[in-house]
Amino acid sequence: MSDDFQRIFGTAPTGVWAAPGRVNLIGEHTDYNEGFVLPIALPHAVRLTAAPRSDGRLRLYSAQGDDTTTDVAVAELAPGAVAGWAAYPAGVVWTLREAGHRVGGADLYFESDVPTGAGLSSSAALEVVVAAAYRDLYDLPLTQSELGLLCQRAENVFVGVPCGVMDQMASACCTDGNALFMDTRDLSQRQVPFRPAERGLELLVIDTKVKHDLGDGAYASVRSGCERAAALLGLRALRDLPAEGLPAALAELPPELAPVVRHVVTEDDRVLRAVELLDKGEFGALGPILTAGHASLRDDFKVSCAETDLAVEAAVAAGALGARMTGGGFGGSVIALVPAGVTAAVGDAVTAAFERAGFRTPVLFTVAASQGAGRLS
Ligand code: ADP
Ligand code: MG
Repeated sequence: MSDDFQRIFGTAPTGVWAAPGRVNLIGEHTDYNEGFVLPIALPHAVRLTAAPRSDGRLRLYSAQGDDTTTDVAVAELAPGAVAGWAAYPAGVVWTLREAGHRVGGADLYFESDVPTGAGLSSSAALEVVVAAAYRDLYDLPLTQSELGLLCQRAENVFVGVPCGVMDQMASACCTDGNALFMDTRDLSQRQVPFRPAERGLELLVIDTKVKHDLGDGAYASVRSGCERAAALLGLRALRDLPAEGLPAALAELPPELAPVVRHVVTEDDRVLRAVELLDKGEFGALGPILTAGHASLRDDFKVSCAETDLAVEAAVAAGALGARMTGGGFGGSVIALVPAGVTAAVGDAVTAAFERAGFRTPVLFTVAASQGAGRLS
């Protein structure tokens, strides 16, 4: 790794940092409604080997990129100035500068085992690892939460993706063996134990290898539907509608908005119920909550797709305690909570179902709740 750094940049690195991808256990499409989320960090991460530069230039190379080195002056960074994958790391440096931090240049070499575009948040990992390295290289007084928030701003404003705050906060703030219970309104957080292995369970990730093109437009449209519904109900955000108020609110809303609102409100409630179970170590009881969350995303929020629906159905039929899509939807990955003894059988069943349906061969792996961003050496 340090050899590759030297080959590309001709200088010696000063440190190595890592930031993980994530899966969200439950609480999907709740973040931009100022509700609750419950992600874990993956063992998969973006690793960044880095050195500061005194000439103000930012040089970027990714082993998973386009085989070119981006070279840009930090002083000239502006939204639209950097194209392609390099916009994510460049956006973080721009955001730090915009926030008033004194940042200079750097040589940054990335390598990653986070699958990209699989709903596992490789983009957030790519951003957060840069923020973590810059904090150390330039002695910036930033907490893990502040790193996450800055990175969300980089993705929103510099890259131009209107994502919520969950992905970056998960990559920055998750801790080993825990899920991150976060209120996305005030960003208050609590680490909640998630160690399914202690109960003989595994969390299986099924990457469907599909990402449907309608995703970006559909995300914007459900998001604006949520905002319209909140405005019609006289609320700041859908988070402010309590579960008891749901029937009356649904009766008041135009029919096309009612199911969207039902998803957000019931999903927030599922997060709270999941946290109660995790606090008691009742990891198996999480299963039905996962499956109910998927049904809500499929039937009410309408962001699932044939591949994720089939993965959930086949996993549960083969013995998973519960399963759901994770991430924004329209493809990406499914998580399944599985008794360790049947993990292989569940995987085989999903693979066989995909083959019968003529879908791409899914990629399967088990994950444990891992550590958020930090310095490795
Ligand atoms: P997700 O975040 O779910 O993986 P996104 O579409 O948000 O999907 O982000 C994927 C994009 O992030 C890729 O198309 C690429 O531009 C960028 N990316 C992620 N990881 C890397 C990497 N290791 N090297 C270069 N680009 C990366
Ligand atoms: Mg992303």
